[in-house]
Amino acid sequence: MKKIGIIICGRYQNCGGGKCLRALKERAGGFSVYPPEEEVELVGYTNCGGCPGGNVEYVPHEMIRNGAEVIHLATGMVVGYPPCPRIKAFKDFIESRYGVRVVVGTHPIPLKYYTEHQKLSFWSKAMYELAPELFKDNEDVMRDYN
Ligand code: SF4
Repeated sequence: MKKIGIIICGRYQNCGGGKCLRALKERAGGFSVYPPEEEVELVGYTNCGGCPGGNVEYVPHEMIRNGAEVIHLATGMVVGYPPCPRIKAFKDFIESRYGVRVVVGTHPIPLKYYTEHQKLSFWSKAMYELAPELFKDNEDVMRDYN
């Protein structure tokens, strides 16, 4: 059993989390780090609080008190326009301050976003390094998350 928390981008604060919950069930995108046979429980879901992400300083503590062992930074941070410039800082801070693993990515990248971002030179290299799991989904899966 693995307990996890999700932090989404504040720009999407009204998001109901449908794609993330679906991907968690399908072990797709960032959730491919868990084998299908491993039970995973979501124990926290919130947003960063809006730029510059003030919630990131405190919400991991609340999630960890609920048992979170891994915190996912949502795919919206990776594929929003513009992508969040603080992803690496969030990951480094949470891992250093709270000692839990941070995975960048939740649901698969929707194909329409992937296609657009591929045209942006700054995006692909940095994001491949930050969120390798998101680049393992094939195009059919990405299309299904459009
Ligand atoms: S761009 Fe980054 S800091 Fe700004 S709202 Fe989104 S996740 Fe938060």
